[in-house]
Amino acid sequence: MSKYKCLLWDLDDTLFDFKKCEHDGIVESFRKHGKSVTEDVISLYSKINDSYWKRLERQEITRQEVLVGRFRSLFETLMYYDMDAVAFQNTYHIELGKQATLMDGAWEALSASRDMGFCNYVITNGVAQTQKNRMRLSHLDELVDGVFISEELGVEKPSPVFFTKALKTIESEQKDITRDQILVVGDSLTSDMLGGYQSNLDICWFNVRKRENDLALPVNYEIFHLMDIITILV
Ligand SMILES: [Mg+2]
Repeated sequence: MSKYKCLLWDLDDTLFDFKKCEHDGIVESFRKHGKSVTEDVISLYSKINDSYWKRLERQEITRQEVLVGRFRSLFETLMYYDMDAVAFQNTYHIELGKQATLMDGAWEALSASRDMGFCNYVITNGVAQTQKNRMRLSHLDELVDGVFISEELGVEKPSPVFFTKALKTIESEQKDITRDQILVVGDSLTSDMLGGYQSNLDICWFNVRKRENDLALPVNYEIFHLMDIITILV
């Protein structure tokens, strides 16, 4: 019998195949702005985007600086002086909202967890409207009990405030659940694992890219495929 009753799932690069979603969203946005795009440009964007979200996690910049700044940096690097970062962000916001490719095993793992009687919540740093669109398109919204989005909570993972706010709602909705019965599942050491750890929750690292644990965080579990979670739940 598992000690857990409730799972908190990260969304991007955990339930969603974010690399694919991002790739297709960027291609479509460039197309709408009359420019073709190469794989090199997409991987450059991806690196810039990661660095901006990491800076937001460290509270060095604001959310708005992430959303527009990443494209401003990209266009400056590429010397695309005719491109308007604000207009492009508006397009990308819409196009990313249409991208909902799931990670291998995501639907199966979440369905199994639900069928086994666990409650399931999503915890995500992201733009609320985008994340809600994508959850609806993928039908993930039908499998979860609730969604916590940093834009709506007003604070990003890994801040313990994010987790405190989410836990308060969960504890009011799921009367018989205690904190030691909650497990955080996510791919990111710096947001999901660090935030869960600092909030005294058990943490399961979805290490799909087989990275080094360079924060040396004492994760309770490490899985390489989402369906591996089942062995923890039985
Ligand atoms: Mg993630």
